Amino acid sequence: TMAPTQQALAAAATAKPHFVLVPLPAHGHLIPMVDLARLLASRGARASLVTTPLNARRLRDGGVDKQLLLEIVDLAFSPADYGLPPDCQNADKIADNAQILPFFLALHKLAPPFEAYLRALVPRPSCIIADWFNSWTAGVASSLGIPRLFFHGPSCFFSLCDLNAAAHGLHERVAAAADDRETHVVPGMPVSVKVSKGRVPGFLTSPGCKELREEAMAAMRVSDGVVVNTFLDLEDKCVAAYEAALGKPVWTLGPFCLHNRGTEDTASRGGDKPGVSESAITAWLDEQAPDSVVYVSFGSVARKLPRQLFEIGHGLEGSGKPFVWVVKESELASPEARVWLEALEARTAGRGLVVRGWAPQLAVLSHRAVGGFVTHCGWNSLLESIAHGVPVVTWPHFADQFLNEQLAVDVLGVGLRIGVTAPVMILDDDAPVPVLREGIARAVSLLMDGGEEAEERRRKAKAYGAKARRAMEKGGDSYEKLRQLIATFTYGTQAINMGTL
Ligand code: UDP
Repeated sequence: TMAPTQQALAAAATAKPHFVLVPLPAHGHLIPMVDLARLLASRGARASLVTTPLNARRLRDGGVDKQLLLEIVDLAFSPADYGLPPDCQNADKIADNAQILPFFLALHKLAPPFEAYLRALVPRPSCIIADWFNSWTAGVASSLGIPRLFFHGPSCFFSLCDLNAAAHGLHERVAAAADDRETHVVPGMPVSVKVSKGRVPGFLTSPGCKELREEAMAAMRVSDGVVVNTFLDLEDKCVAAYEAALGKPVWTLGPFCLHNRGTEDTASRGGDKPGVSESAITAWLDEQAPDSVVYVSFGSVARKLPRQLFEIGHGLEGSGKPFVWVVKESELASPEARVWLEALEARTAGRGLVVRGWAPQLAVLSHRAVGGFVTHCGWNSLLESIAHGVPVVTWPHFADQFLNEQLAVDVLGVGLRIGVTAPVMILDDDAPVPVLREGIARAVSLLMDGGEEAEERRRKAKAYGAKARRAMEKGGDSYEKLRQLIATFTYGTQAINMGTL
């Protein structure tokens, strides 16, 4: 019989390369990680996704594990230890700003069960891919000698801005600025980028999160590289500059969303039950002319008060254009808002479709009838739009979204600004609404009505869409990079690199 180490080596020699993915439990992070796991599985690797029990159940309920041939692993999680309700396991369950820090601290306590899971695996996985926010994975990976890449949600353009801003003390300078509107140039960018208060790049930049940010930056520095959901042709200069600034390999493997094919794939994204069936929405879109419908949605986090909803609704009605508009259940808490929305639906019947709750966004954006997207510029939404050749009206709300707007409008030329300048997650009760109905009707008309500028935006979006598809096909840059990534982290290479073979 073989000695245990020989056994382990023999098992390792025949095993598939095994990637363990650790997403941040928020839709904008989970969705691309699930897509990435599926991509890895489709290319012959073994992919496991590690998350908290409630997120695991959501994914299993959505049938994600069965269709996708990936393993979903539950780790014990105790939000109650941090004063959070037991179901607070995903950013969409965070009720107010005071819960943000406890949520991250609770996530850090996943380290011991994560380590126990890894120690029980024979052979050990070839590579961990953990969200930038999950800095607690760094110590576990190094104690077990497992290579670790970090996955960073936004574009290379954004991440490069963040590194350059940090290197030049821009956060401090902007925080000290007397005027909120004062603009500051981000040094070292291949394209001109200006920021002001509330719009400086970087996550966890509020004073209470200082330690978390430092931990994340430290975990980034000891990682073996980064995986980014983008493609080289979209931002080649920024990819190169980011790689140089980081001093580590940057694996651009996207757009991940293009891996999804067919109804089941696109409908199961997000693991939530859609507010409308994909077949119903597709049937409705089938009746519309190509490029005629505007899709309006603000991601999974931003929440609008009724008075802002009213302006959007009247603006869409006034635009005269066919529309699909996603309204969250949480935005319809008041009976007044529900009654108002039903009346709007009656007035725009046939021309407008309101989705309550979760929309099958990829099915909408990939439909030929959809010719424009009013978006909050979350990176996933923006990239999904570009990947399907759909130009955008940009209405950023917070975090990386203002910089994504600059990328879409000023660098790529696929977007039109609605004109907001101040960050907002949930509007204060007494604050004026940032965008009025006239502004919405005007932006939608400019995006959808044709004319030279509109045609130019559409042409550019379609050109990037074609390049995105090429990147993901055999021989394309993202496709080949994924092959290289898997080869780099197969057991043989890893064992040789680590001197154990
Ligand atoms: N999404 C969806 N249906 C919805 C809302 C969002 O499928 O009703 C998906 C969307 O396609 C994207 C993700 O959720 O993949 C949202 O991520 P993004 O980065 O755009 O924004 P965030 O939600 O993080 O603000």
